[in-house]
Formats: sequence, structure tokens, C-alpha cells
Amino acid sequence: MNGSSVRIGTVFGIEVRASRAWAFVILIVAFLMASNYREMHPTWSSPNLVAAGAATSALFVLSVILHEMAHCLVARAFGIQPRSITLTFFGGMSTLGRQARRPIEEFSYAIAGPGANVLLAVVYLGAEYGLRDSWPVTAAVLGSVGLINAILAVFNLIPGFPLDGGRAMRAGIWWITGSYERGTIAAAYTGQVIAAILLMAGIASVLAGSLEGVLLGFGGLYLLGRARASLGEVAMRRALEGLTVQNLWLETLPQVERSTSLIEFLRQLPPSREGAHDPHFMVVDEGVIWGIVPASRVTRIEPDRWTGMTVGDVMTPIDQIEKLSFETEIVRALEAVAAADVNELPVVDANVVQGFVGRDALMRFVASRLASDSG
Ligand SMILES: [Zn+2]
Repeated sequence: MNGSSVRIGTVFGIEVRASRAWAFVILIVAFLMASNYREMHPTWSSPNLVAAGAATSALFVLSVILHEMAHCLVARAFGIQPRSITLTFFGGMSTLGRQARRPIEEFSYAIAGPGANVLLAVVYLGAEYGLRDSWPVTAAVLGSVGLINAILAVFNLIPGFPLDGGRAMRAGIWWITGSYERGTIAAAYTGQVIAAILLMAGIASVLAGSLEGVLLGFGGLYLLGRARASLGEVAMRRALEGLTVQNLWLETLPQVERSTSLIEFLRQLPPSREGAHDPHFMVVDEGVIWGIVPASRVTRIEPDRWTGMTVGDVMTPIDQIEKLSFETEIVRALEAVAAADVNELPVVDANVVQGFVGRDALMRFVASRLASDSG
């Protein structure tokens, strides 16, 4: 995901990224709004139309970011660390450190986004009302953004996965039945129905000669894909139910002394093969584990910076790495390894590191379980 998106800043410690397609989204919205203003206000000058279109587009982007920010801040209030917000072609997407563990977490998280849009709609429409006579152009822009926020709130509350309304519905069914799985299946099925309706509406409006139907159709296809993916997630959770780290073969990692210079470390490194996985090393000092270092982290450093640096300078310290226990569920281990900046996590029992669980090994284990489950 990082390869196709660019970082645009950090707000409240949450990284905000945008896919390159967003440059087009901003331009399209500015253009559509400017031509919309021209129809509604034929007397406006061209600079006014351009400025109003651009301002509406900028406030639209801000609305999408605030929607995601509301999700993230509620998640954080429940102790779930938000990692990043990405603006994709079809809207915003938040990446969280882990999934909700209780229906109330999922429900609050889901409605926070549309809730922010409702609040923004009230503020913008109120401002439009107040400024209508003194600042007509500004008021028209605020009115449009207020309307856009109202539409965003209503659209996102449609009760089908992966829309926020679908997540809220999943939380409700989860709360009533006690089953996360049932909630997901129901929300994924209604999500597919809604996606199919969007797709058909898109095709119908293209046949009727409206090009906007193409966007509707793409939106439907996208939702269909996401809804199906969440059914896949249910299958995965079912296949991994009751399995813990105990069921895995633990790995040992080669050791490297903390004081080893980077130059020495690179000399000892076996030549890497094309496509081979990134070897991880356990950084030790007097028999104590201090951290973990992936070989790729060292090879990525510019050679002119190697002098004077040791392995200890570039490792991820052990206290910043999530530890697993033999009782940790495989699903939890997958989440932890996805959130970590190293591919190997230590398994600790009685305060002693018993071995490591690697991302590759976990993926292979999951794939073999899924294969035996469906076969
Ligand atoms: Zn949302």
C-alpha cells in the first residue's frame, strides 16, 4: 500500500497518506463543482467560479480526512492504536493496530465517521445560513460542503459491509447473538446486495447516456470485492479457531553482538539470493536479548553512514516488540506481526524467550489450514 500512496502529513500522531489517484479526484470535484456553480449562478465571474470550485474540493478532502480522523480517535479511546489514514479513489480508509474485541468498540468506531459528517453538515449549513446575504459566494461554497457531508453521512450508513453502516450492523448482530462471525456474514451479504444494486444502477444510467453511471458502476464493483473479501476473512477465522502459538513450530534466529559494527555485520552476512526472505538477527549482549534487526535494514543504509555505527544503533529494541505467549491465538499473532516493523516476534514463557514466530511461517501455516479446511 505504501508504494502506491504518498505521505501528506501527520495529525494527532496518525499518518495521513493519499493514493496518487487523489490528484484526479481533487481536480474532478473542483471542475464538477465549478460547472455546477456556473449553472446555479450565471452572473458569477470566472475567477469566482474557479475559486469556489477549488475551495469546495479542498473542504471536501478535509471532510473525508475528518471522517477518518473521527474513526481513529474513537479507536484510540478504546486502546486500539490507529496507524494511518489513506485516501483511496473510493474514499478514506483507516488502518488500525488491531480489530475490535467487543461489539461496543466496533459500533462506536463505525458510527464515529458518519457522526463527524453529520456534525460538519450542521456547522456548514448553519454558516451558509448566517453568511447568505453578506458573503454569497462563500455561503454557496459552505452550503455545498454541508450538503456533501450530509450525503457522505447517509451513504456511509447504508447497512452493508464494508461501509460504516455495515460495521455498525455487524456490531449489533454480534452483540445480540454473541457471534462476531454471524455479524460479519450478514453484513457481507447485504453489502453484496447493495453493491449489485449500485452496479445495475450504474449500467442503467450509462445505457441512458449518463457518464456519471461509470463511477457508480465502479463503486459497486469495489464494494462487491470488499464484501467478498470479508467473507474470506470469516473462512480464515473459522479455519484458525482454537489454534494458538502452541501449534506452531518455533524458529531460532542467528545471533549478533550489540557492539558489532555495521561493516563487520555486513561482512558476516551470507550473500542474499534474489527473492530470498529477509533474514532477521537476534541482537545480544552478555547473553541478554536487546533487540531484533532485519538484514535489509542494514543493507538499506547508505555505505557512507556505516562508519562508527553498530548493530545496536539500528535494531528494534526488544521492549518495542510485541511478545507472544504459547496461549496467543494465531489470529492475534497475525495481527501483531502485521503491525510490527520486524517480521519475527518473540514467544515468551516464564520470562524467557522460547523462540520466534515469523511472518512467512505464519502465512504458510494459515495457507495450509485453509487448504485442509476447504478440502
Ligand atoms: Zn468511515
